[in-house]
Amino acid sequence: MTGQNAAAHERVLRYSLVIPVYNEEAMLPLLLHRIVKLLDQLDGSAEAIFVDDGSHDTGSIFLRGAVRIDSRLRLIELSRNFGHQIAITAGMNAARGEAVVVMDADLQDPPEVVLELIAKWKEGFDVVYARRILRQGETLFKRATANLYYRVLSAMTTVPIPRDVGDFRLVSRQALDAFKSMPESDRFVRGMFAWIGFRQAEVLFERPPRMAGETKYPLWKMVKLAIHGMLSFSEKPLRMALWAGLTICFLAISFGIYAVIFKLLGGAMVDGWASTVVLVSFLSGINLFMTGVVGLYVGGIHAEVKRRPLYIVAHDTGRQTEVAATGTQTGHRNVAS
Ligand code: UDP
Ligand code: MG
Repeated sequence: MTGQNAAAHERVLRYSLVIPVYNEEAMLPLLLHRIVKLLDQLDGSAEAIFVDDGSHDTGSIFLRGAVRIDSRLRLIELSRNFGHQIAITAGMNAARGEAVVVMDADLQDPPEVVLELIAKWKEGFDVVYARRILRQGETLFKRATANLYYRVLSAMTTVPIPRDVGDFRLVSRQALDAFKSMPESDRFVRGMFAWIGFRQAEVLFERPPRMAGETKYPLWKMVKLAIHGMLSFSEKPLRMALWAGLTICFLAISFGIYAVIFKLLGGAMVDGWASTVVLVSFLSGINLFMTGVVGLYVGGIHAEVKRRPLYIVAHDTGRQTEVAATGTQTGHRNVAS
């Protein structure tokens, strides 16, 4: 919070790059080279913020040295490993740019693509996703699971979370302020940016293999992120219990009626079997139904405790005439909080 407030008073830059770094020492010299090259190419004042997410290697020593030499670089070292999503949030809170780009440290998000993102931003888009069309060097398993996951996620959530989009994206200052107005502590960044709305666009790029080091997303972390995404953006699993319970009750009653008619018409059935089946399935149906009901309340509480803003205003035209003269990217726009 204090970092956020402090950043607001500092001079505003045109571009910020936010790069989460976790045990990437093998990557850093090359990364730095490419980032500095990118900063040189940008058409305005820029900063690159490295967020060291509690690395256990010597990477931060290297980065500290780099920051001392180049004033456009900044290093934020978290006190321990808080995870990728939190590291991104820390960097974004510190960013001072009018346009803020988040990218991975392993050069899987090529710096050249940033120029394309910026071009889209200049067209007036507030959130520009980089969407991968090819994932080189990633195992078939990772590609297949990622694919399946995006399918399930988009079927489950109410806000459309774009497929094949990681955290590589550019956001305008206005979108960033909206993002910052979401105080939830469990942060699924890509879902949150889908939630805030605004004009969103995408840029396609080929995702090259990791240059060095190994993925910091082993299977269990991927599963954790996946579950996290579903839970924080969907109540569908809770509703599923409700509907399953109702369906089972309905089937139990239908079967009961069928059994009675069958018996009345003189059909032969094992004594006591039908009534036992009807009772057991009816009761478990009720049980499931009630679980679903409780789930909906829990879902309601979950939504409340996130304390998200109710809405976000994109434009507020005609309120004060002197404000209307400013351009789209630097315009004064309001964020409800
Ligand atoms: N990362 C991080 N904290 C973590 C895990 C990863 O800051 O706990 C960073 C990592 O250094 C990299 C980015 O997040 O810059 C993406 O991680 P990685 O490349 O391992 O993920 P993948 O591309 O394999 O999905
Ligand atoms: Mg990677």
